[in-house]
Amino acid sequence: MFSIFNTLTTKKAEFIPINKEDIRIYFCGPTVYNELHIGNYRAALVADLLSKTLKGIYPKVTFVSNITDIDDKIIKEASKQSCSINELTQKYYKKFMNDADILGISKPDLQPFATDYVDEMIDYIQTLLKNNSAYEISGNVLFEVNKFSNYGCLSGRCIEEQDSGARVKIEDYKKNPNDFTLWKPSLANEPGWESPWGYGRPGWHLECSVMSESVLGVPFDIHGGGNDLKFPHHDNEIAQTCGFHNSSDPTCFAKYWVHNGFLNLANEKMSKSLGNVVYIDDLLKEFKGNEIRLALLSTHYRQPIPWSLNLLKQAASVARKISRFTSSHTTKSKFFPGSNIGKAILDDLNTPKALAIMQSLITNPKKFDINQEISTFRYIFEGSKQDLSLSKEDQDKINQLIKLRLKARENGDYQTADKIRDELNKMNVSIKDKNGKTEWEIL
Ligand code: AMP
Ligand code: ZN
Repeated sequence: MFSIFNTLTTKKAEFIPINKEDIRIYFCGPTVYNELHIGNYRAALVADLLSKTLKGIYPKVTFVSNITDIDDKIIKEASKQSCSINELTQKYYKKFMNDADILGISKPDLQPFATDYVDEMIDYIQTLLKNNSAYEISGNVLFEVNKFSNYGCLSGRCIEEQDSGARVKIEDYKKNPNDFTLWKPSLANEPGWESPWGYGRPGWHLECSVMSESVLGVPFDIHGGGNDLKFPHHDNEIAQTCGFHNSSDPTCFAKYWVHNGFLNLANEKMSKSLGNVVYIDDLLKEFKGNEIRLALLSTHYRQPIPWSLNLLKQAASVARKISRFTSSHTTKSKFFPGSNIGKAILDDLNTPKALAIMQSLITNPKKFDINQEISTFRYIFEGSKQDLSLSKEDQDKINQLIKLRLKARENGDYQTADKIRDELNKMNVSIKDKNGKTEWEIL
């Protein structure tokens, strides 16, 4: 019924749940040390799309996505801003959640923070050492990739290939250049935890193996993230979980692996390190959240998105055209697997096809069961911000502005009244004065 491309088998196949009464998925979430760019939101949106689709067809789905709140980049940035890592990560976590909400991305069912799982990580490393999958050297604990026969099975890279291409200087203490950190020492003035290997902190790859297993148990159904995470992050996660369970079978961890394509700017992956980033705040000056969401979903999730102003303008015009058509339909957001849009989504989350169906419905509505198509469209394309309906907070704000405007008019202060009208228009609220009262509607 639902087919999905599995990076592990490099094939699209029917999704067969481990337990159809209880679907479990995990996506790697962001490192919250500065403002996220639109590429990061693409990854969060793809996870949301998959979770919503599964929730549309299965009775119980648990969607987990972590927050990385301990990392070298975080430590460096906190010291630059002279604040604690907790202050820094809380600030950017809140911003992330706020902007995700504007894009109609639902909060994951569970959102573990890495720093809440350090005890579990220490226990996990002890088992890896006991299983001979890891070794300790002067306060560092490293995973030994040669001990895992299937190392690189997800990305398709084998150990030899990686060796020959390596240009970076390999730290002397590593037995193999691909051996990666499970635990590293922290300086006295750096954040850290006491451990059997001294004061230190966990490696990034470790946190996802530990949190996903702690929260969901293994094996779970789907693990995902952006294409850049396939190697080394996801291959390392597989190595750790297999090492922990003394298994060489990657499906003892997750059965399906899903990866989203990059969002590119001028043919290059958008990334903080390259500096070619676009932020939501800037886009929101000109576009609405649902228009940005539609722009991100107008490309299939596995394809790269060549990001441009033109792409956004086109998406905004399509979003307006569709909302003019759907606004007269009061049908609620709901996933109908049998609708044409539903079928497109169930075929490896084919959002561009679903969008094309929605547009052809406008020109030829007779061919369709309109209510089912619109409900499914809303469920996927409007997400948690359904049907342009306003939050209580927004409604209160609009009513407040209207009151202020009426007062200004009563006082003959037409300049202020006009300013308020402009402000309302910017929020896409149109107002009409009728018999001393003001009516408003969303455009
Ligand atoms: P990070 O905070 O760098 O770990 O990234 C969080 C998520 O965003 C990961 O799933 C990344 O793969 C994803 N991501 C980062 N940059 C991009 C991009 N330009 N396009 C799509 N996904 C991205
Ligand atoms: Zn991860």
